[in-house]
Amino acid sequence: MPNFIRGYGYQGGGSREGWGRYIAEANYGRDLKEALSNPGDWGFSITAFGECLPYHENKISLNREVLDIYGLPTLIMDAEWKTNEKEMRKDMTAAGAEMLEAAGLKDVKTFDDGGNPGLGIHEMGTARMGRDPKTSVLNKWNQVHSLPNVFVTDGSFMTSASCVNPSLTYMAFTARAANYAVEELKKGNL
Ligand SMILES: Cc1cc2nc3c(=O)[nH]c(=O)nc-3n(C[C@H](O)[C@H](O)[C@H](O)COP(=O)(O)OP(=O)(O)OC[C@H]3O[C@@H](n4cnc5c(N)ncnc54)[C@H](O)[C@@H]3O)c2cc1C
Repeated sequence: MPNFIRGYGYQGGGSREGWGRYIAEANYGRDLKEALSNPGDWGFSITAFGECLPYHENKISLNREVLDIYGLPTLIMDAEWKTNEKEMRKDMTAAGAEMLEAAGLKDVKTFDDGGNPGLGIHEMGTARMGRDPKTSVLNKWNQVHSLPNVFVTDGSFMTSASCVNPSLTYMAFTARAANYAVEELKKGNL
């Protein structure tokens, strides 16, 4: 049994080495042409995408001491991986290698680059959606609790997307929020 909760997935694929493989070999003329007339070796790689649990203490705040070039406050990001994420990473690495070897791949190598928060391509959060204005920024319509004429429909409203690609969900929520805003405008509520 894994010693973490929630889960992860993998994305990846196979490809052959391209012409770039000979750049370092200093081949010229006919040698280079002949070398490149053969396709390169096959490689296959996968990357794991795991869920970070929605920790309340992982947060951002505004730094009013340090301003950007427009005079606006800059961002302080205060977030970390905790035990669940660290344990999940170990499992991702081991299970990835196990699958590739079971599929018949040779020379399987694993790595864990540490990947600190903020470096992932599916990052989200910071303006969470919730019922209580004391603990959330947006209501269920992606509308700012304290500013009803402001809707925030990017990835910030979500506290987690599990381990799957998030963009379609953002788009669906955006369409839903826009529809609601139009209806509210028609009723004269906004
Ligand atoms: C290489 C890569 C591949 C990906 N592949 C997939 C995929 O296959 N499927 C999937 O679902 N997701 C994928 N994602 C994730 C997806 O792109 C993001 O989750 C999504 O785009 C986030 O949307 P967003 O609106 O929250 O933020 P963004 O799309 O990042 O939009 C933020 C916008 O705000 C602007 N901005 C920032 N600061 C300021 C400022 N101070 N003033 C004004 N504007 C500002 C930025 O220029 C940007 O246009 C991928 C991401 C990457 C990097």
